[in-house]
Amino acid sequence: MGILSAKLSAVKPSQTKAMTALAASMRAEGKTIITLSQGEPDFKTPDHISRAAIKAIEAGHTKYTAVAGITPLREAIIRKFQRENGLNFTVDQITVGCGAKQLLYNALVASLDEGDEVVFPTPCWVSYPEMVKLAGGVPVAVETDVKDRFIMQPGALRAAITPKTKWLMLNSPSNPTGAVYSRQDLEKLAEVLRDFPDVWVLADDIYEHLVYDETEFYTMVEVAPDLASRTLTVNGVSKSYAMTGWRVGYAGGPSELIKAMNTVQGQSTSHTCSIAQYAAIEALDGDQSFMGGFRDAFKKRRDLVVGMLNNIPGLTCDTPQGAFYVFVGCQELLGSVTPSQQRLETDMDFAMYLLEEAGVAVVPGSGFLADGFVRISYASSEEELKKACVAIGDAVAKLSRAYAG
Ligand code: PMP
Ligand code: GLU
Repeated sequence: MGILSAKLSAVKPSQTKAMTALAASMRAEGKTIITLSQGEPDFKTPDHISRAAIKAIEAGHTKYTAVAGITPLREAIIRKFQRENGLNFTVDQITVGCGAKQLLYNALVASLDEGDEVVFPTPCWVSYPEMVKLAGGVPVAVETDVKDRFIMQPGALRAAITPKTKWLMLNSPSNPTGAVYSRQDLEKLAEVLRDFPDVWVLADDIYEHLVYDETEFYTMVEVAPDLASRTLTVNGVSKSYAMTGWRVGYAGGPSELIKAMNTVQGQSTSHTCSIAQYAAIEALDGDQSFMGGFRDAFKKRRDLVVGMLNNIPGLTCDTPQGAFYVFVGCQELLGSVTPSQQRLETDMDFAMYLLEEAGVAVVPGSGFLADGFVRISYASSEEELKKACVAIGDAVAKLSRAYAG
């Protein structure tokens, strides 16, 4: 009998983390690798936020805090939800954890019994199906179509719901597609959910501020306030505030669920770092003007990458409306042969080829439950992105064109 549980043997390691670690180990061997595999802004955390953390250390805020997070932070989160989303919460309806990731996990552990189903559209973030499995649930992937802008259609949601369905997990703007649910898209899903009063909604809004052009962000409860009693709205400072390493995420929802999530957290990590919590207050309450600059930079990078990639024969990508990823179709290249006579059978083969030949780390679409794609994060400098796209183009040009396109 081995040491590992049967449950864990069904759970895959995070592919975003695995590709990034592989790129780091190749770099350590002296190879030049451009890492576009991890969704992490290259910007520095704004100074006023970092200064708040230094002040917190100097003031001695270096002790354990309440499991749900310090009250001033929870109050700042209440103001944020009010101001930006028109949502109303009380302090007992808010909890803070080590990134949005931990809050999603806590919510699933707190709510799923063995065999309960969690529905989510695919392509989805690599961690959704695995977290559901870790929590004892059954992931139910609902495929979306590039023709529908990767937006889940109401009929598909209805068809996926069974008496065992506990949650719909919805991520907008989406990792990995950048798809953003419009007010109408959400209204249509809400209409379906009204027929299934036992199904809850997990709204993952982590990329909220990263929407481009005329696109507007909406979260489910804003559009369908009647679903507030069965929705958990999850957000965090990692992406919008360039604070990935600080590990602060938060959630607002019915107090019964929040209390259970606090029990999970209180028996595992206790709470996130006290210092990071003070920094998060400053992030949410302080000057937001830098965010326009982040957004403009991302939009410019997006347009650069989409333009360059679409000029590479065999690759296709639409212009995403949010987040900082492009989800690039590579189906046409599958079946072609590398200079070392290896046949590219899968998107994983293609991603590995790009790593070795182009020195560019990307994540294969299969990690997001969507074969025939790779995800490229454009949260890097324009210079790096240009170099990466040129290298990808050169690598693709070396493939023998055994494919139909
Ligand atoms: N949700 C999605 C869709 C993500 O891409 C990420 C990536 N980090 C998270 C949640 C978690 O973010 P964090 O834990 O850094 O707040
Ligand atoms: N969410 C980011 C990504 O998808 C960071 C890595 C992770 O947590 O998976 O790349």
